[in-house]
Order: sequence, then structure tokens, then C-alpha cells
Amino acid sequence: MTSTPPRPNVTPRATPAAPGTARRWRPSPFIKSAAVLHAGAAAALVLQPALWPWAVGGVVASHLGATAAGLWPRSALLGLNWTALPPSAGRQIALTIDDGPNPEVTPRILDILDRYEARATFFCIGDAARRHPRCVEEIVARGHAVENHSQQHRHHFSLLGPAALEREIDAAQQTLSEIGGMRPLFFRAPAGLRNPFLEPVLCRLGLHLASWTRRGFDTRTRDAAVVTRRLLRGLAPRDILLVHDGNPARDARNQPVVLDVLPAVLEAARAANLPCTTLRAAIAPDVCNDREGSEGREGAEARTPFATMDR
Ligand SMILES: [Zn+2]
Repeated sequence: MTSTPPRPNVTPRATPAAPGTARRWRPSPFIKSAAVLHAGAAAALVLQPALWPWAVGGVVASHLGATAAGLWPRSALLGLNWTALPPSAGRQIALTIDDGPNPEVTPRILDILDRYEARATFFCIGDAARRHPRCVEEIVARGHAVENHSQQHRHHFSLLGPAALEREIDAAQQTLSEIGGMRPLFFRAPAGLRNPFLEPVLCRLGLHLASWTRRGFDTRTRDAAVVTRRLLRGLAPRDILLVHDGNPARDARNQPVVLDVLPAVLEAARAANLPCTTLRAAIAPDVCNDREGSEGREGAEARTPFATMDR
């Protein structure tokens, strides 16, 4: 719990927008330069056909760069990406819990969170929410946030085009709003993988991409102590931690490791005076308890922290 890992910069001149409302898409510098490169390559082919190897090479390199950026979950090259809470969060950290709800694990996680009076953000899958609506209701009833982790959690999510991306994310918006009574404000891509079409879709749906500061790999590692160490190494104010209630790895007793990890993490956070909050409370304290997400937005807009989100 000493050093803070370097964080990718968040695109600086983002337009503040009220949480949950559509905003204008502004291409990131990376996307703008890719567009310029494509235009230059097209012009070169027309004016100097002999330059075709350079033109084709430049376009291929640009596509490889965009693909690499999409495979790097914490990258902000394709658009805004929450890798840490905004400075206004002070010493707070955020615990994010993906891939549920899971009727075996989620209620036990809720009990652990209650014991430590901690708030968490659950990135739920729409289809799982349909199968286990009571779990979602319970998450909300106990004061936590439900956010969008897509409708089906498709493995080829990052290969979808704009229309399919929008269908998948909007379906989860409808499902989770209907069951939880709270319209999601954040989206996390399945496995954190995405492509350049995602950010314009998120802008239209009024969602913000959230990744994490560090993750425990608790769906793969069967040793709770190892997972806990990964999460606590360098733990600092404004960190966003990622664990899972869906598809948890199990230890030798066949217990989901996350159930041993969370008490240890929450104990350490309490000892370090790092209270847990939700992502939506960090973006807009005034709307975090608004189940329709429709009130108090003016004040929230004034404080929208994107311009200074990186440290
Ligand atoms: Zn996931």
C-alpha cells in the first residue's frame, strides 16, 4: 500500500454532460489522427498512385493501433474511460463487481458489504438480471448501484458494429432500469474489450465507460490470498477495484474466492481510511439516490469531473 501505479490520461477537453443524458460525441485525438491519416492515404492514391505501398501501410498501421487500443481495457485512446475516481472523491475508493447477479454469490457479497458499511457498484448482465430479478432488487434496496455490463456478455462483443453494439447495450439499459428502477450511468465492456464504434454509442445512450485501477483476476485464481494481494498492492484514494460475483474461481473447499477476498480488502481499506463509494455517487452525489435518474442534474452537471479525472 505504498506506490500508485501510473494511469493513462483521460481525454482532456471532454464536454461536461448531465449524468444519464445523451451527449455529443467528440472524437479522441487518436481517432482524429486516424481519420486524417485515412484522408491523406486516399489523397495520395489519387495524386501519386506510386505511393500506394505507403498509403496502404499507413491505413493498416492505423487499424492495428485501434485494435491494440481496444484490447487494452484501461486505455483512453478511443474515448473517455474511468480508470480512477475524480479528484472530488477525496479518499474514497470504488469497489466494482462484475458478471452477476448470481443467486449463490451476490446475496453473500451483500452481507459482507453490510458488515463493513461499504457501498459497491454491480456491473450486471441483462440476461442474468432477467433470470434473477430479486438479486437486482436486493442490490438496490441495500444502497448499492446497478450499472450496465451488456445484455448477453458476448465473447465477440469487441467485434460488433455500431448497430449491434447499440442493441446489446440498450437492451441492458431497458432490462436493468425496469428491474432495478435505476437507469445505469456507466458501462463496462465484457472483458474490458472494445472497438472505436463504442464511444459514439455510449454518448447517444448517456453512458460513461468505466474500467478499473486494478483487478484481482478472481475468476481464474483459486487462491484468495493472491487475489487479495493484487487488489491491495498500492491501494490509494480514488482507486477502482474489480472483482466478480459471476463465474467466480473456487478454492480447495469449492468456495468462491471472492467471499474471502472481500472481507480482507474491506478490512484493509477501513484501516487505511479509504471508504467505499459507488461510481454514480462520485459522478453525481445529487442523483445517486434518484431511482429514475431524472432529478437534480443541474448541480451534478456543474460538478461533472471528466476534465480532471486523471491524476
Ligand atoms: Zn464481465
